[in-house]
Amino acid sequence: MSERPKLQILLCAPRGFCAGVVRAIDTVERALEIYGAPVYVRHEIVHNRYVVDSLRAKGAIFVDHLDEIPDTEAPVIFSAHGVPKAVPAAARQRNFLTIDATCPLVTKVHREAEIHARRGRTVVLIGHAGHPEVEGTMGQLPAGAVVLVETVDDVEKLTPLDEKNLAWATQTTLSVDDTREIVEALTRRFPDIVGPHKEDICYATTNRQDAVKAVAAQVDAMIVVGAPNSSNSLRLREVAERSGCPIALLVERAADIDWTMLQGVKRVGISAGASAPEVLVEEILDGFRAHFDVAVETVVTAQEGVHFPPPRELRQRV
Ligand code: SF4
Repeated sequence: MSERPKLQILLCAPRGFCAGVVRAIDTVERALEIYGAPVYVRHEIVHNRYVVDSLRAKGAIFVDHLDEIPDTEAPVIFSAHGVPKAVPAAARQRNFLTIDATCPLVTKVHREAEIHARRGRTVVLIGHAGHPEVEGTMGQLPAGAVVLVETVDDVEKLTPLDEKNLAWATQTTLSVDDTREIVEALTRRFPDIVGPHKEDICYATTNRQDAVKAVAAQVDAMIVVGAPNSSNSLRLREVAERSGCPIALLVERAADIDWTMLQGVKRVGISAGASAPEVLVEEILDGFRAHFDVAVETVVTAQEGVHFPPPRELRQRV
C-alpha cells in the first residue's frame, strides 16, 4: 500500500455553532418535546441541510409561507433570521401558537431600526437583498422608512429625502471589511448619519472571520464547512480567498470535496460557519484522514462563552 502524504491541518477556533443557532435548534427540539410532533417552522430554522433534515426526522415541518400551514394547534416557530412584522400579525389572525426563535442579536437590530424610524430617521440597511434576515429587518419598518445598500456603489447612488435624518444598520453576518468600507462611504457622504451603539455584525461572525484570517494566510487550502445559502459561511470563504489562500472551498459534506484539487497540499485550514454542526467538521477530518497522514493543530483566536436563554414562550414551560 502506498504511503499517505503528510498533511498538517489547522483547525480554526472559534468555528461552527453560535449561541443564536444553538438556541434556535434547542427551541425546535424543546417544542417537539413539549407539544409533540408536528411543529411547524417558517423557513429553515438555520441555514444547514443536515440540521434541517435531522429536525424534520423528529417531526418538524418546514414551510416558506404561513399559507402552507393548515389550521392547527401545533406551534409555529420563526427561524433564527427573524421575520417581518407582517408574519406574526398574520399568525395571530389565524390563532397560531407562535414561538419566536429569532436570535436576540437580530432582534436588537430590529429594535434599533424601530427607534430610528420613530425619531423620523430613514434607515440605510447594509445587507444582501433577498436574505431572510434582511427581509425581516426591513419588514420592521413602514415602506419608505428603510433603504437597502449592498455596496459602496449603492451608497454613491443614494438620494435620501433628508440627509440630516439618516441612520445605518447592518445584517449581522456580513464581511467585517466590506461593511467598514460601506460605513466609511456613508459617513463621508452623510456626516450626520447615526450608527448603532454597538456593532450590528455579531460576535460570532467577527470571531469566525478573525480566525479564518489568522489561518488562511499560512495554508495551501482552506475548507469552510457550511451551506451555500449561509451568509456567514459564504463570507468565511471570501475572507480566506482575500487573505491570499490559493484554494478556498465551501463544502457541506466530506463527499463534496474534490480531492484532486488538494493533491500536493501540505497545510490545510478548516473552519465552519455559524450554522454548521461540529459532526460535519468531524466527518471532513475523517475524509482527510482517509487521504492523508494527518496532524491536527487548533488555532485559537478568541474564547466564546455566549449563551442565550430560550424564547419567552418556552421559558414558562422549561
Ligand atoms: Fe445570532 Fe450571530 Fe448566530 Fe446570527 S450568526 S444567529 S446573529 S449569534
